[in-house]
Amino acid sequence: MCGIAGYIGYREAYPIVIKGLQRLEYRGYDSAGIMLYDNKIIISKTKGKVSDLEKLMNSENTKEGTIGFGHTRWATHGIPNDINSHPHVSNSGNLVIIHNGIIENYDSIKQELTKRGYTFQSDTDTEVLVNLIEEIKKTNKCKLGKAVQIALNEVIGAYAIAVFDKEKPDELIVARLGSPIAIGIGEDNKEFFVASDASPFIEYTKNAIYLEDEEMAIIRKDRGIKIRKIKDDTLITHEVQQLKMNLEQIEKGGYDHFMLKEIHEQPHAITDTYRGRLIANKGIIRMAGVDDNIEKFLNANRIIVVACGTSWHAGLVAEYLFEDLARIPVEVEYASEFRYRNPIITDKDIVIAISQSGETADTLAAIKLAKEKGAFVFGVCNVVGSSIARETHAGAYTHAGPEIGVASTKAFTTQITLLSLIALKLGKAKGNLSTVDYQNYLQEMELIPKKVAELLTIDDKVKYIASIYKDVPNCLYLGRGYNFPVALEGALKLKEISYIHAEGYPAAEMKHGPIALIDENMPIVVIATSKGHYEKVVSNIQEIKSRKGKIIAVVTEGDTQVKAIADHVIEIPETNEAFTPLLTTIPLQLLSYHIAVMLNKNVDQPRNLAKSVTVE
Ligand code: GLU
Repeated sequence: MCGIAGYIGYREAYPIVIKGLQRLEYRGYDSAGIMLYDNKIIISKTKGKVSDLEKLMNSENTKEGTIGFGHTRWATHGIPNDINSHPHVSNSGNLVIIHNGIIENYDSIKQELTKRGYTFQSDTDTEVLVNLIEEIKKTNKCKLGKAVQIALNEVIGAYAIAVFDKEKPDELIVARLGSPIAIGIGEDNKEFFVASDASPFIEYTKNAIYLEDEEMAIIRKDRGIKIRKIKDDTLITHEVQQLKMNLEQIEKGGYDHFMLKEIHEQPHAITDTYRGRLIANKGIIRMAGVDDNIEKFLNANRIIVVACGTSWHAGLVAEYLFEDLARIPVEVEYASEFRYRNPIITDKDIVIAISQSGETADTLAAIKLAKEKGAFVFGVCNVVGSSIARETHAGAYTHAGPEIGVASTKAFTTQITLLSLIALKLGKAKGNLSTVDYQNYLQEMELIPKKVAELLTIDDKVKYIASIYKDVPNCLYLGRGYNFPVALEGALKLKEISYIHAEGYPAAEMKHGPIALIDENMPIVVIATSKGHYEKVVSNIQEIKSRKGKIIAVVTEGDTQVKAIADHVIEIPETNEAFTPLLTTIPLQLLSYHIAVMLNKNVDQPRNLAKSVTVE
């Protein structure tokens, strides 16, 4: 994880890099650092946020230089302190590096370099890599590019790196394996930007190249870019992509936090997901990735969903959707478990990989494994051009727009929207859905954004409930059927941004353990919508009330039975059972958000977390 932003050209690099780091801070915020070159190398780095780095720069350093790069860290090797912050400098003081990822064999390389007289200031794997490059450059008497290439062929692990050599101050080298690198191409090919994603440079250029795994680029001021394969030195040409992202999408737009903005963007985001795909009045769902492979989907023995975190919860909703609507058996796997347990996969299986960023390391590894075993792999991600999008046989983007808050919100609902469309399409094609039912689903899907917008107006009510329970140490979330994954997601949202311990359970499982936790201080959020085992959930609520637990119930508009026994009710508009997760999720997102704000937590950048998990 971590964010990388750099510039080489004719403008002052500092404002570009520091602003770029602010935009990438969602990727990691243990520390921040910068290198600028203006006839000498200037390095500033500090534990903490990009704002701390900015303060440091304002107090101590000159900010000149038309070449520079910066880093926000998500520590893997060495605690977050000033010394372990990037950039790291080689022993000679000539080479400077920033690195996203992990060098797994750093220890043996470090021992070898130590024998040769190298010393190390930090505990990081990154400092080992920059000294390895230096040693190779020295012993082979080669140029920086060659030395980087040889070094990368010796390391095991994952990386996106940028390297600078004082002896070649018109050049930057970048390389990737497993962690993303975008290169922005400025006017007349005379200035270049490098970054973990395109957000740091969208106001300067819309032209970008995305490096593929095992590629490196030598970027020279005024002379352009050369891309080579790290393994065999082959020269590569990449098509220049036109970025569609705009500045507005990556700014807060009047909201206090990105998370709140993204919660409120859901009506639009859901519409953007089905736009051009769902033509309800004609009974059509169009999706090239599915249409082009329809036989594979229809003949699949089963679907295996691989994902992590919130995307895994979307996968669990998909299990209900695909089994219910399309009658295809589904298994939902944590990508990190799946990849390491010799799973049984055949060419009759379809693997659906879900990831907001499209860079999740474990999910990527699971995709590679599934491909090796002959499965057809379909990707569901948000970030266009991401690794998962490229690595899968086919796929569909959620088109949710950039999600910057670390706690995922619109990514979840748009993933469910997309997966619902696929399930409906297959259900119809397999003859499991009558024309009338199918048509009703399609029409209902078109109404969902309006219903989400309506639901967002209950914010004050949710805020009031948040004010009552903000100081509790524990919270339980219960749901059944389609809303069991929503309970898991609700609990995850609360723990990740407020640090309150929360558990999600299938409502009936409560009796097998968690019920022991219930007393008069324990809030239990229960999803009790009218369709979907309503009576059973009502009984579960009664069981909780008998033990004096406090019930926050999410019910369907017009409910009377639960209203009579719950401590608080939040109403959602009526919809069919399969689409309820798209609505029930919204108040749970708002509840976590308000609790976290009231507890003064950093909502957009919760401790220890990062947005795009590019390490295993
Ligand atoms: N492994 C490096 C470190 O711990 C880089 C981590 C990152 O991606 O931020 O410093």
